[in-house]
Amino acid sequence: MNLPLWFDPEEMLIGGVWRKPDARLSVECPSDGREMAQIARGGKPEIDAAVEAAQAALAGVWGRLSAAERGRLLLKMSGLVLAHAEDLAVIEALDVGKPLTQARADVTALARYLEFYGGAADKVMGETIPYLNGYTAYTLREPHGVTAHIVPWNYPMQIIGRSVAAALAMGNAAVVKPAEEASLTALAFGRIAQEAGMPAGALNIVPGLGEEAGAALSAHPGIQHISFTGSVAVGQRIQAAAAANAVPVTLELGGKSPQLVFDDADLDRALPFLVNAGIQNAGQTCSASSRILVQRSRYVEVLEKMAARYRGLTAGPALGDHDLGPLISGRQKQIVEGYLALASDLTIAAQGQIAEDVPAGGHYVAPTLIGGGHGAHRLAQEEIFGPAQIVIPFEDEEEAVAIANGTEYGLVASVWSENGGRTMRLARRLRAGQVFLNNYGAGGGVELPFGGIGKSGHGREKGFEALYGFSTLKTVAAWHG
Ligand code: NAD
Repeated sequence: MNLPLWFDPEEMLIGGVWRKPDARLSVECPSDGREMAQIARGGKPEIDAAVEAAQAALAGVWGRLSAAERGRLLLKMSGLVLAHAEDLAVIEALDVGKPLTQARADVTALARYLEFYGGAADKVMGETIPYLNGYTAYTLREPHGVTAHIVPWNYPMQIIGRSVAAALAMGNAAVVKPAEEASLTALAFGRIAQEAGMPAGALNIVPGLGEEAGAALSAHPGIQHISFTGSVAVGQRIQAAAAANAVPVTLELGGKSPQLVFDDADLDRALPFLVNAGIQNAGQTCSASSRILVQRSRYVEVLEKMAARYRGLTAGPALGDHDLGPLISGRQKQIVEGYLALASDLTIAAQGQIAEDVPAGGHYVAPTLIGGGHGAHRLAQEEIFGPAQIVIPFEDEEEAVAIANGTEYGLVASVWSENGGRTMRLARRLRAGQVFLNNYGAGGGVELPFGGIGKSGHGREKGFEALYGFSTLKTVAAWHG
């Protein structure tokens, strides 16, 4: 396999300079288990240097740019992402193990994040406030300062796009710690920023291990905001680290997102959404829909129609023409297989195939549809993060809401029904950060604010909400008599 790298993957970006590391990490290709590249193993000294560089950027050229100039830079980056589109897609597909078609969609999304936040940079405004006689009062939206971005391996380009583009648009400087499993497109993003003319230190990228570079970054007293996407356990540690420095934190921690299918649903429209939301990126998606709740009168029909689709699915190497790729690692495969073993008291309604010629070292799991479920089962409660969905029957709206809201998570939900009143009612009753009615956006577009409640996290990324999150509000009250 040939990685179309146009840069040295071992280097890290600190203060506008690509530095060679003292130590390295091996990057495995999930499709065949072989070493694909080596990346830097940054640690506390590199994080310290990156935070210092970010502070210097805020005090220097970057801090003096106007909002329009920052926006223009991001728009230029958006164009450069598209110019490098196919290379970026191939790198992401090989690094994460996702089908090329999905990686291409991630590139398009990254360009769109940069376009959206590039265009929005000079459109964030404060307010004037009617106050006491003789005063003029108003608010200013100002950047936090140095923002930390700790990124997972499942959607590196999309997650860097949504959080870093918004942070830079507001005038923050950024230090990015990509996931050790998949850092390559983060490094490409750094090259593209430089190609666009990003001032030194505004964007720093330090690959490394979570417990080394990640922990050093989240605990750094020079950080004014942390944006984290990943597991609940690490999110809780990040929040504790943020609390120690009393800085705000955005946590995006995954979910157990349900789709509710009522007896009057348009099943022809629903079916592709029901299945795709479970198997996209081999189910390793925070907004994956791993629970399908179906009204009992149509339960058998939905299960059979989903099963027919599952039987046609194939997992295979990222660059092959398959419906899904391998899982990210042997460890992740073990976790998912452990979950699938819990289905012994349920029904395996259908499984897809693993392509015949897959390399022995790849981490493939056949997509699995589980029937006969109930809301309290561990498979209906815990995030599997693999290509598996559980189908659960319900009697009526009350029971559907009770099951849907009956987990610790609350990221995304959808309702499939032709009854407009019901869909609007449920949009209010479902505990989730995003509710889709007769569609499922799996995270949605850049325009739609995204984030969770409960153990799915807090704070919102995407949309204008992200710009508010990446800024602090200053109130000015002037007495002029
Ligand atoms: P993780 O939470 O361990 O890693 C996410 C990021 O946090 C990585 O960059 C990692 O290096 C960093 N990190 C790890 N430990 C850290 C620490 N102590 N301090 C600071 N940073 C640290 O997630 P993972 O191991 O990649 O995946 C484990 C589980 O997390 C998955 O099975 C899945 O359930 C969940 N997950 C969720 C999402 C999501 O989008 N919400 C993404 C990836 C993983």
